[in-house]
Order: sequence, then C-alpha cells, then structure tokens
Amino acid sequence: MEKIPFNKPYIIGKELWNIAQAVQFGQLAGDGYFTKQCNKWLEEHFGAKKALLVHSGTAALEMAAILCDLKPGDEFICPSYTFVSTVNAFVMQGAVPVFIDVNPETMNMDETKIEAAITPRTKVIVPVHYAGVGCEMDTIMDIAQRHNLLVVEDAAQGVCATYKGRYLGTIGHFGCYSFHETKNFISGEGGAILINDERFMERAEIIREKGTNRSQFFRGMVDKYTWVDVGSSYLPGELIAAFLYAQLEESNKISAKRLSIWQQYHELLEPLEEKGLLRRPIIPCTCGHNAHMYYILLKDLDTRTKLIAHLRANGISAVFHYVPLHNAPKGIELCSGKAPFLPVTEEYADRLLRLPCYYELTPEEVTYVCRCAEDFFIR
Ligand SMILES: *Cc1c(COP(=O)(O)O)cnc(C)c1O
Repeated sequence: MEKIPFNKPYIIGKELWNIAQAVQFGQLAGDGYFTKQCNKWLEEHFGAKKALLVHSGTAALEMAAILCDLKPGDEFICPSYTFVSTVNAFVMQGAVPVFIDVNPETMNMDETKIEAAITPRTKVIVPVHYAGVGCEMDTIMDIAQRHNLLVVEDAAQGVCATYKGRYLGTIGHFGCYSFHETKNFISGEGGAILINDERFMERAEIIREKGTNRSQFFRGMVDKYTWVDVGSSYLPGELIAAFLYAQLEESNKISAKRLSIWQQYHELLEPLEEKGLLRRPIIPCTCGHNAHMYYILLKDLDTRTKLIAHLRANGISAVFHYVPLHNAPKGIELCSGKAPFLPVTEEYADRLLRLPCYYELTPEEVTYVCRCAEDFFIR
C-alpha cells in the first residue's frame, strides 16, 4: 500500500482551464469575472444576502472583527479549542477573548456556558463549527439578541454544512469560510465572508477595498472613488477565484465523495467503539455535516501517542488537532496571567485524533486505515 498522507489537495476538473480563461480575459487582479461568479455562487447556493471572496479564512475573520467596531477592552466569547485566527482577528482590534469550554459530544462551544461569561463589555460571540458540525445556533442567536451582541460564525470548516436546514455561515451576522487546501473546497489559500445583516454590507465592501468606495464607483453610485474608512486589501487575485470556481461548481460531487469516506470510517470503526476502545463523532440530529473531518477519541494522551506511531509505522499519517489557546503563552497573557479552567477542552484536546480524509482517498485505503487501527487495539 502506498503511503497515506493526512491530506492531499486535488483538482476536480476545470481548474486549469478556468485559469487559462482568466489569463485570456486579461484581468489578473481581484474582482474580475471569476470572483464575481464565486460571489454569486455562494449567494445563490447558500441563500446568503452578500458574499465576498477574500484571500483566506483568516482575512474573513479579520474583516468581520473590523465590522464589529470594537473598542479596546471590549470582550468576545469564543472556544479555546480552535484555530488561532478565530481569536487573533478580534485581538488585533484590541478586544479581549473570554474562553468558554466545549461540549464533549461535538467539540463545539458549549452554549450553556455563554450567558455566565457575558459582562457589560461583551460585544461578540464567535461560534466555531468544528469538523463542519453546526453549533447550537438557535440558542446562540437567542442569547445574542437578548444581550444585543453580534455573532460571527467561524464556518471555515463548515462550507455546505447545515443547521436545521440552514447553511452554516448564513445564520449569524457574519459567516467566515476558508478555501485553504486542507478544507473541503480549495484554492490553495482562500476564503469568503458572508454578510447576513444589511447594516454592514456597504462598509464590508469598503474595508475589503483598502478603505475606499471603489466598489460603489464601479457600480456608478459615486462619481469618484476616495478614501472613506480604515481597511486593507482582502480580495484574492482572479487566478485563485478561477481555481475555486471549478471546485464550487462540483460541490455536490465533492461532498458526496467525502460523505462516503466519512460513512465508511464510521461503519468500520463501530466494532471498536462497541468494545469501548474509542469513541466516534456524534452528529446532532439538527445538523447536516459536510464530512470535513473524521476523528476518533481515544482513552487518553498516551494511547493517542502510541496509535499515531503505530499508524505512522504502517505508512499512515494521522494527526492530533488544536492545542488549546487559553493556556498558550498569548492566551495566558490576554487572560491577565490567569487562564480559565476548561476541563473538557483540556481533556478532549489530548484524546482527539484525526484520520486521513481527502477527496482522492479510496475505499481500500479507508479499509486499510481501519484495519491498522484494529491491529493496534487487538494485538
Ligand atoms: C482553517 C481555519 C481557519 C483559517 O482559515 P485560513 O483560510 O487558513 O486562514 C479559521 N478557523 C478555523 C476553525 C479553521 O479551521
């Protein structure tokens, strides 16, 4: 058996053709034909009011944080079990993270812990849809409404996944997607911000275009374009958008393939779960997940370390995931030197192991990975 990497970027069909088209159209900077096609696809497919392509999921989070209009010392509530950009984007605006624990079933923010974390300085809640499984958004939106807070969904992993039939990223005030090569739909680096509240649409375009009203100028709404706000350059070039559009157009095919890989893992690992040797992912009945990730939970850190080594010795790359942020050096500094106690985050971060999951992974390879895991436990 060939070595099985953890992730492998792939080309689904028309990527290179689209790039050649973009070159022929003669516009390589952003906001050309393919960027507009991607924006339109995201709006139509997800029923989003406004979607803007950006150069990464991180950029989408940064734009959302700017749009939240935070003052130094304002607070935002987020999980500690997440990627650094979820938190850094808001910290860069002078805001302070208030880390809450995750729910052990999904590794998503524990919504029952939100209200106790709210103070007069709280401005934003940042749910992260881990593994493309939706957070408990009805509860989160209800809390946000009652306390007049904004909600920024980190849906970097949640593209095409749903919560109660609504697409992740379209439920909060803002939704942030990533098209990094490790995600479901890829363009190397890439991302998009969904703006679901009309109040923020005009300013979103301005911030994305270096603080200018260039977009309005091109639509003929103003007769010259000028500097009107803060901002940066968040738009991707056309070659990226051309690549991405080929993937978006094949989203059903990509999703179906990933879901079948996920389902195969789920079935083959069931006997090990029944023997109490591992726990498989739990998908709440409210969620339609997108098979972004297949993970297992082991008994403890030691078991995980040994299983990683065993799989590696058999040519399989399986990897652990987030090292919690609340007790990382920067996290401790931001929590005034005193990290909160988040028992589920701390325990489960040590026990979680992600198995290879990518478009080109074959059923034979999934079987092999599961057989190697079985060998590890049974031998
Ligand atoms: C991938 C990811 C990001 C960042 O996306 P980039 O496109 O790599 O900048 C942010 N949050 C989460 C939860 C992610 O998985």
